[in-house]
Amino acid sequence: MSVPKRCTATPNRTIRTAFGAGIAVLFWAAGVSAQSLDPEDQNFWAGAPALDLPLACDFGRGKRCRIAGYVDHDLSEGVSDYQCRGRSYNAEIPQGLGHSGTDLAVLDWKDWADGAPVPVIASAAGVVRNIRDEIADDDQNSGVGSDRACGNAVVVDHGAGWLTQYCHLQKDSVRVKTGDVVAAGQALGTMGSSGWSSFPHVHFAVLRQVGASVVRVDPFTSTTQFETCRRFRSTMWTPSAAEALGYTPVDFIKVGFVGTEPNTRNLLHDLRMEEALSWSEGQDIWVVLYAGGIAQGDLVQMQVLGPDGQTLFDATVKIGDQRYRIFRAGRLKTSTAVTERLAAGQALPTGRFTLRVNVANVAKRIYARKQASAVIAP
Ligand SMILES: [Zn+2]
Repeated sequence: MSVPKRCTATPNRTIRTAFGAGIAVLFWAAGVSAQSLDPEDQNFWAGAPALDLPLACDFGRGKRCRIAGYVDHDLSEGVSDYQCRGRSYNAEIPQGLGHSGTDLAVLDWKDWADGAPVPVIASAAGVVRNIRDEIADDDQNSGVGSDRACGNAVVVDHGAGWLTQYCHLQKDSVRVKTGDVVAAGQALGTMGSSGWSSFPHVHFAVLRQVGASVVRVDPFTSTTQFETCRRFRSTMWTPSAAEALGYTPVDFIKVGFVGTEPNTRNLLHDLRMEEALSWSEGQDIWVVLYAGGIAQGDLVQMQVLGPDGQTLFDATVKIGDQRYRIFRAGRLKTSTAVTERLAAGQALPTGRFTLRVNVANVAKRIYARKQASAVIAP
């Protein structure tokens, strides 16, 4: 889309950047020449920084950090990440509904609290434009107005109208101050959950500013949030960052066997997959699936196979609506197969059990699968 050109700006005016954005960005108009906020204009992309990882953390399968949400390119009721899939969500921004950054997360409060702090680092060299550091970390968004939705934050100015913004940092963790010159990779603070945040993560936003106007840019495609997911110019990530942040349609967050009933709270707090459980009284056995990226209309199958390949649990559901993350669970001890065996006086099998998860699209083609196992004793 075309955005009106701005030739003048008011010095030292405070503006609010859109969602997540809550941090006030102070700017100085001197030196800001007439530029375009139209991404089809070459000038828009002049001076765009190459971006390294904004966190010093391992990403990928089985690693501690993951991408919990992308920029939403659908500013209406729908959701569309840069792959035209649903790994994003709606958040109110002045122009409509759309999450405006990339969420990099440790999706487990206990891991976040007990493990080493996750350093938030400058993704490119620049000058610190603004900081905030006094907001508590919690999962309730408690007492924080929309102007502070971003929580504790750092904004780095990379020149030529390019800024990066790091939101939801841990309280009292920010270690830079306004005006500091930072190198790429330099520590800015640590990951937290301050502001409008319900799990430990950093909302990383790439901003292109001209005068008083700011446009959010998706670093995976060099497209603005207002452009469709089908548009791709180039990646803004360095090769190593691009590799670390490779896309998977379905993000399997927690899959396996657990001894307590899963719920939306413990899934994000401290629920641990178990490797050994027991049929004994007093020990419950659940299988659980917690995942992002599963689309409306998809078929999700959870199947539990016993040591001899016998099926002890098999349930398929069709996902009725678009959801940011889905959660499914089954109680093994009350599954039809188990209760029938018990009614017939048969012993329950013991040994290694396998949980298979298959995700199929509307055409019933399986496009994502995950497996987990546990040993179940008598
Ligand atoms: Zn975010």
